[in-house]
Amino acid sequence: MAQLRIPGPTPCPEEVLKAMSRQMINHRGDEYAKLQREVIAKLKSVFQTQNDLYLLTGSGTGGMEAAIVNMLSPGDKVLAVTVGAFGDRFANIAKTYGADVTIIKSEFGKPADVAAIKKALQAEPKIKAIIVTHNESSTGLTNPLEEIAKIAKDAGKLIIVDAVSSMGAIDCPVDKWKLDVVVTGSQKSWMVPPGMAFVSISQDAWKAHAEAKIPRFYWDFTRAKKIYEEKGQNPWTPAVSIVFGLQPALDMILKEGLPNVFARHARIAKLTREGCKALGLTPFVADEKYASNTVTAITVNKGLDQKKLNKILRDEFQVVISGGQQALEGKIFRIGHLGWVADKDIKEVLDALKLALPKAGFGSAK
Ligand SMILES: *Cc1c(COP(=O)(O)O)cnc(C)c1O
Repeated sequence: MAQLRIPGPTPCPEEVLKAMSRQMINHRGDEYAKLQREVIAKLKSVFQTQNDLYLLTGSGTGGMEAAIVNMLSPGDKVLAVTVGAFGDRFANIAKTYGADVTIIKSEFGKPADVAAIKKALQAEPKIKAIIVTHNESSTGLTNPLEEIAKIAKDAGKLIIVDAVSSMGAIDCPVDKWKLDVVVTGSQKSWMVPPGMAFVSISQDAWKAHAEAKIPRFYWDFTRAKKIYEEKGQNPWTPAVSIVFGLQPALDMILKEGLPNVFARHARIAKLTREGCKALGLTPFVADEKYASNTVTAITVNKGLDQKKLNKILRDEFQVVISGGQQALEGKIFRIGHLGWVADKDIKEVLDALKLALPKAGFGSAK
């Protein structure tokens, strides 16, 4: 079996695959309601929150769109902080629905400019919300979210977070950092397949929701809240199999213990960076302090043909990694190490890289 080391989908443990192969049950019945309540309680402990939390059937981007349409009205001023492709996507969703979006953009590989965020809020008091990516999977960078959230909340703004590739692997304490809307996706740290987004909603977010006028139907948080509180159900048919898989996956996470899960990701990320450096490679994020614990991006240099590298790794070593997205296509490659990942997996990737790099031209130029 190939080593799937991309920033999601990630491999799933046997227990998860087994749970997901169960026969269907009635999503309007007591058995499903009980299962969903249990899964949501466990997700809340990983989110470290007492806020409401719902399962939305859709990918991470669906969850991001849900956050926008439930919090904003057309014309609302929004500060979008972007450090890469996923931050750009979040800003684009807000623009698509008619928000008045001011963008603060960092150079690829650099974290969000905290001073610029402060300044932008002072310059425009009407800004209602800050939208920001916690972990930018396109560059392998983790933003200083605690600091950004503090600035936002001290100024009385909403803070809406794409934690799609961090939650469950990198510490993101929702209540402690007062994060208003936080979105993640099932295929990232959660060790289950794609198909669901999980979203937490604070009290401040509910107040904003009550006034938000962007049209919404499928993603409407009011509909999700009403039927969940009355019956433990979803407004629409949920991805039942994903919920089956979440039960053992969340048990594994909680049994390992959150601090241990975070420490494992930190250790494995470091192992990845150090291993790559030992092979002569250059991590894309220069300041280690912001290097992601879930995805490592490596600069393409020294004559390396990145497409060839990915192909050799896949065809000859059964290791699947990612390239760069959009403007970074051909300029970086990325190794995902989130969810179900152990030291030995990364050692295998590094062993394969060692043999594949020279075949892909690495070292043939300065
Ligand atoms: C994967 C990812 C998304 C979007 O996920 P989809 O499930 O593909 O819609 C959004 N943001 C970040 C940071 C991601 O890593």
